[in-house]
Amino acid sequence: MVALATALERLGSALLAGGSRRERVPLELDPRGLLDPARGLTIYVHLPFCSSLCSYCTFDRVRDLSSLERYLRALEAELALHARGELAGATVSSLFLGGGTPSLLPAEAIERVLAAIRGAFRLAPGAQLTLEANPESVVAAKLARYRAAGVNRISLGVQTFDELQLRRLGRRHGRAQIARALELLAAAGFALVSLDLMYGLPGEDAAGLARDLEHALAAGVAHLSIFPVIHRPGSALARSAHPPSLLTLHASYREASRRLAAAGFVPYTPEDFARRPEARCAYQLDAWRPAARGCLGLGSGALSGSALGSWRNHRLERYMALALGGELPIAALSRFNRREQMRAYLLRSAKTLELDRAAFARTFGQSFSHAYPGLGAALRLARLARPAGEELGLTVEGRFVASLFWTGWILETLGEI
Ligand code: SF4
Repeated sequence: MVALATALERLGSALLAGGSRRERVPLELDPRGLLDPARGLTIYVHLPFCSSLCSYCTFDRVRDLSSLERYLRALEAELALHARGELAGATVSSLFLGGGTPSLLPAEAIERVLAAIRGAFRLAPGAQLTLEANPESVVAAKLARYRAAGVNRISLGVQTFDELQLRRLGRRHGRAQIARALELLAAAGFALVSLDLMYGLPGEDAAGLARDLEHALAAGVAHLSIFPVIHRPGSALARSAHPPSLLTLHASYREASRRLAAAGFVPYTPEDFARRPEARCAYQLDAWRPAARGCLGLGSGALSGSALGSWRNHRLERYMALALGGELPIAALSRFNRREQMRAYLLRSAKTLELDRAAFARTFGQSFSHAYPGLGAALRLARLARPAGEELGLTVEGRFVASLFWTGWILETLGEI
């Protein structure tokens, strides 16, 4: 059966690839057909440079900038490969520069990446361009250049306001730098600022996250993201601390949801809360809505894909070697069969807290309740979904479970590379 499935998958890839298959991309790693340029794209760019390595982090990242020039050339080469292929002429609706610590890089590097993207694709008017920053590397002169280059949203990696926890996590900033970064962002005219917070920190209970939220709300930002700390095998944190109990994580998430709702924040993914619709992260929505445009992930370890399938790039050294050698640096690719597409639709619905039953029926030729008989009733019975309504309608508990799943899945996927 496995051999037959593989043979069918290869046949499907061959049909999708048509007669103009790229010579140097193995058939099973050929991404054609997974992104539809007519629907537009969202782009994620991974910039894997950090000034220190946080104790919980197992992302693909490095501590020095010695490979920066080579990495930028690899990014430009990867972009050119995609722009010459079936994605030629695609419009980019939103962009996320993540890492790593993009704000650590010289402003020229950010300008160069954005210029390369503008050279390769068309950027939609008013596209949201988000840059991830750490408080200690927020600098006025760089902010002005980000703004001039088109960056209009900043996601600030605060994680916690607790000085002791920040040291445990291996972060380089303290409370004073968070306050200073927020002042500089306001002075530079960034109206869209998001703070990342973590919960389940060593020894922390729900009151710890609640204190962090008080600080974050006092800062007046319109967007917050909250993530559970995952003790990934191999991380310094996993070696030095016990993971939090599920009960602690749940109590923290529940309390945070209550406080954020009271402050006027609305969740639009299990981890993301916005006080105004325009403060939401357009990249998240563009990448994960079930019927959304696809996401092109550029850089080492980056994930790409759509509801039809996904791929991920190689880690740093192999990524650069392949891209600079003129090959797409893809490490693994999955092309979903129909059953997997339905499952992907469901998981994406849980990510974006939206279930469009009519679109599901149009896409798959059967109703959602026919495809997943009893699922809605089971979710309601377990109090993961609200009693009535056509939407997925996840309760706080439902969002909590979805958040654990999605955070764990992303980290697992990135860890496999
Ligand atoms: S958490 Fe962010 S800043 Fe810390 S090591 Fe990982 S990528 Fe770098």
